[in-house]
Amino acid sequence: MNTSYLESHPDENGYFGKFGGSFIPPVLEKPFAEITQAYKEIKNSPEFINELKYVRKHYQGRPTPVTFAQNLTKHCGGAKIYLKREDLNHTGAHKLNHCMAEVILAKHLGKKKVIAETGAGQHGVALATAAAYFGLECEIHMGEVDIAKEHPNVVRMKILGAKVVPATHGLKTLKEAVDSAFEAYVKDPDSTIYCIGSVVGPHPFPMMVRDFQSVIGFEAKEQFMEHEGKLPDNVIACVGGGSNAMGIFSAFIDEPSVKLYGVEPLGKGEKLGDHAATLTYGEEGIMHGFNSIMLKDAEGNPAPVHSIGSGIDYPSVGPEHAYLKEIGRSNVALCNDDEAIEAFYTLSQLEGIIPALESAHAVAYAMKLAKTLPADQTILVNLSGRGDKDIDYVIEHYPVPNAKF
Ligand SMILES: *Cc1c(COP(=O)(O)O)cnc(C)c1O
Repeated sequence: MNTSYLESHPDENGYFGKFGGSFIPPVLEKPFAEITQAYKEIKNSPEFINELKYVRKHYQGRPTPVTFAQNLTKHCGGAKIYLKREDLNHTGAHKLNHCMAEVILAKHLGKKKVIAETGAGQHGVALATAAAYFGLECEIHMGEVDIAKEHPNVVRMKILGAKVVPATHGLKTLKEAVDSAFEAYVKDPDSTIYCIGSVVGPHPFPMMVRDFQSVIGFEAKEQFMEHEGKLPDNVIACVGGGSNAMGIFSAFIDEPSVKLYGVEPLGKGEKLGDHAATLTYGEEGIMHGFNSIMLKDAEGNPAPVHSIGSGIDYPSVGPEHAYLKEIGRSNVALCNDDEAIEAFYTLSQLEGIIPALESAHAVAYAMKLAKTLPADQTILVNLSGRGDKDIDYVIEHYPVPNAKF
C-alpha cells in the first residue's frame, strides 16, 4: 500500500509541503551536503543502529516508562491521563535522544568538535554529555538572560567539560544564541559540526532530529498498548522548536484515530512580545535557514518572544509542525504562564513528579482536555523533562500555593 508518512516526508530537498528546505550561505552548502549524505548512509547501517540501541539501553536508561497518572486523572474527572516519562531519560529531558545520535554522526564524519545553541540549557547539557561520552570537544552558545536564569545547567555544562559562550546581543535568549552559534560554526565547518537542538534549521536537521526523537513515540505506542490494549485517543506535547512533539507524534501520524495536539506557550498574553505561540499567531517566513511559520515584528524580522519555559521561547517552529497543522493532521493548543505554573504544582503534589516548565504546558492542556472527555477516553502526554532546573525560579516568583490536603 502507501509508503509510511515518515518515509515519504520530507521530500528529497527537505520540504514538508512548502515548509522546510535549506537557506544557507554558500560556505555551508558543502558541509550540509556532507551531513545529508552521511545520514543517508548510516541511517540504515546495522552498525549505527546497534551503537544507538546500545547507548540508549545501557547509558541513557531507555526505554523510559509510560506512567498512568491516576491521581491527576481523578482530580480532573474525565479522560485517563498517561505520561511518557522523558524526565527519566539521562540528563532529565528528551534532548539526549538526538544528541547521542548527532555525536555518533559527528564521529563518523571525523569531526573534532560539536557546537550548538541552548535555551534553558537542556540541549547544552545533553550535548555536553554526549560529547563527554564520545570524547569530542563541545562549545555551547547561550543567551546572557538564560545564563542568569538557568544557572544550574550552566554549571553542569562546565563540569561536563564544555565551553559556554554568552550571546550578548538583542534579547539575549534562544534566538540570539542560535545566531551566535551559527556565526562561530561558519568560521570552521570542517572540523566542527553544528548539532541543532530541535527539529529546526536547514535540511537535513528537521528530518534527522525527528528520526532520532521518534524513539519516544515508538516506545510509548507499545507501552500504551500494554496498559490499555488500544491506541491512545489523544497525544499531547509542548512545542518550542517541536522535537519532543515530533518524537511522540512520529509513531501516531499514520494512525488516523489518534488526535495530535501541540501546545504552544501563550506566555503573558496574546500581544506580540508576550508569548511564543508561533503556529497560532505567526506567518510564513524564513529564519535560521528554513521556511516555516514565524512571529515577525513590524520590519518582518523575528519578533521578541516570551515564555516562562526557557526552552520554548522561539519565534519560529519546526517546518513539519507548520505542515501538519496546514494539512489538518495536528491541532494547536495554547497554555499561558499561569496555567503552566498551576500544572507544575498540581503534577508535583498529586503524582510526585516535578515537571519541567516546558512540559507543564502539555500537562496543563491535558488537564483542560481531560475534563471535557468521558472516562473511557485516553490522553498520552509527553512529559519532555524534569523540573529540577526550574525550582529556584519557580519558588522565587510563584511561592508554593496553599497545600491541597
Ligand atoms: C528544550 C525543551 C523543550 C522544547 O524543545 P522542543 O524541541 O520543542 O521539544 C521542551 N521540554 C523540555 C524539557 C526541554 O528541555
